[in-house]
Amino acid sequence: MKDYKEFVEIFERVGHPPFRARQLLNDVFNRGVADFREMKNLPVSLRDFLDEKVPLLSIEEKKVSVTPDGSVKKVLFGCQKDGKKIESVLMRFKDGRRTVCVSSQVGCNVKCKFCATGQMGFKRNLTYEEIADQVLYFILDLKDYSEPITNVVFMGMGEPFNNYEEVMRAVRHLNDARAFNVGARNITLSTSGIVPGILSLIEEDLQVGLAVSLHAPLQDLREELVPIAKKYPLTDLMEATQKYIRETHRRVTYEYVMLAGVNDKPVLAHELGKLLKGQLCHVNLIPYNATDTIYRCSRKKAIEDFKEILETYRVPVTVRVSLGQGIDAACGQLANG
Ligand code: SF4
Repeated sequence: MKDYKEFVEIFERVGHPPFRARQLLNDVFNRGVADFREMKNLPVSLRDFLDEKVPLLSIEEKKVSVTPDGSVKKVLFGCQKDGKKIESVLMRFKDGRRTVCVSSQVGCNVKCKFCATGQMGFKRNLTYEEIADQVLYFILDLKDYSEPITNVVFMGMGEPFNNYEEVMRAVRHLNDARAFNVGARNITLSTSGIVPGILSLIEEDLQVGLAVSLHAPLQDLREELVPIAKKYPLTDLMEATQKYIRETHRRVTYEYVMLAGVNDKPVLAHELGKLLKGQLCHVNLIPYNATDTIYRCSRKKAIEDFKEILETYRVPVTVRVSLGQGIDAACGQLANG
């Protein structure tokens, strides 16, 4: 669904005042009206025009998978404009959080070695509307349960900073109190380490969260797992995150996927501890969800030992509880099928 600015532009072109855009957004987001013809506050001529010319959603549901307990729902969408497929996941946590994991691209050209999306290659960037509509779909889906979406994470298909402009427009739309009204602090951008994107984010007047997929504390190993590290080496990445912390006073989350025998050795936990010691950060150790790659998840004991070593460096660390494996909806498992 288009944002406030775009609706105002459309309405001005067809001779309607800007306040109609506010009325329209109010109907969708506060009254749950998902059909232009039902928006009785709008003039009939405008309703007819919208119904004919402006699709409410830019994506459509193709396939839905839900875990038996209903806590995770994965949806495969087709884009209206060219049929390209993307996936999104809703996670309903016991503490009341309702988090949508959105895709920002069709495929991804970062090609992380352990990632299902990375294996499918890059197709195209999503528009801000296609990104935000993944959240709108779940808002409309949950409206009968009166469950608002509380968090949005850009951790689905794609590298958000390789689609910076559209991602930031989607973030502003999601944060807009007239529309989605998701708090900026509840929106997290997750990057594989695109340094210019981190530096640009520092300049934005938005308090969104930053997560960096680190996965290795040494340049060689990181290059192997996250090939973009050749272009943006670890030293540059660390300089960028330190600058981010210094200038925004916000914490960085480092994601570290646990791969058996690859990046889970005690010596690497010590290296990671030395790298991050004293930083305003948090490390998420992510048990790997096996996809069609050569990698396997670390043993539970190896993850616990890794965590304990990091703690000796006073680096805040948690092991992520992974939801949705049974329906291939967990981290790194989104492809398009
Ligand atoms: S982990 Fe993220 S950045 Fe890496 S290939 Fe997969 S989608 Fe792209």
